[in-house]
Amino acid sequence: MTTTLAIANQKGGVAKTTSVASIGAALAELGHSVLLVDLDPQACLTFSLGIDPEDLEISVHHVLTKGVDPAEVIIATDDGVDLLPATIELARAEADLLTRTGREHVVKTVLEQLAENGVAYDWVLLDCPPSLGVLTVAALTAASGVLIPLQCETLSHRGVGQLLDTVHDVRRFTNRGLEVWGVLPTLYDGRTNHARTVLETIAETYELEVVEPPIPKTIKFAEAPAAGRSILATSRSNKGAQAYREVAANLVTRVAGTAKRG
Ligand code: ADP
Ligand code: MG
Repeated sequence: MTTTLAIANQKGGVAKTTSVASIGAALAELGHSVLLVDLDPQACLTFSLGIDPEDLEISVHHVLTKGVDPAEVIIATDDGVDLLPATIELARAEADLLTRTGREHVVKTVLEQLAENGVAYDWVLLDCPPSLGVLTVAALTAASGVLIPLQCETLSHRGVGQLLDTVHDVRRFTNRGLEVWGVLPTLYDGRTNHARTVLETIAETYELEVVEPPIPKTIKFAEAPAAGRSILATSRSNKGAQAYREVAANLVTRVAGTAKRG
């Protein structure tokens, strides 16, 4: 069984991409097969896993809008995860898809196509762009769960309401089974009470689970993308890397629990 998780928040800079790369690498360390899908035209995920988007002739854009077989585009990375890479061309996909029938289902269809061809992953993590446009809606339509990375600062709750409105629309129209797995506190400064208070307020206001543990703010994250590897490889014992390992283990436990309950 594949678990497809969208990592979404229309705010930029909240560590969506970092979380996708790090949780993906942590799941791979646990022996799970993982596909990461870069759905952001800025291609930060692609770049951070050591692939220069400018070297790519075909990318996720061709898969979503031109019917190219995803298996031809997927790349195995040094972090033990497979990647469906993006390039800046994906910026056009948003406009291209806008007038297309079935646009909300493009990501779902691509994942189904892989499964039909016998390519099965334990996990598919979808790195969403910083907007609530077509690509984010398509990711939410393909996912069984959504994880919301959140930097716990004063105004972060405003975006959460809008994102949850989109989730409700997706549930109504395109994906009944979508579940909100919770917020993942990122860039967390546990030394201040402020971060904790903001997190509690958001969790209570929107009745959201908090995925543990919070990811601490550490300088090592800034260095990893330039090395083309996730922080789990560049700073193995860093406390941010450890926190992502614990988050990944908790996600695995959650899936195991759901499977048992049926
Ligand atoms: P998003 O995908 O939401 O835009 P990114 O994952 O690209 O966010 O992260 C934004 C910036 O924050 C990047 O420069 C990244 O290296 C940095 N960053 C992410 N997580 C942490 C962390 N825990 N501590 C310090 N810096 C971080
Ligand atoms: Mg990003």
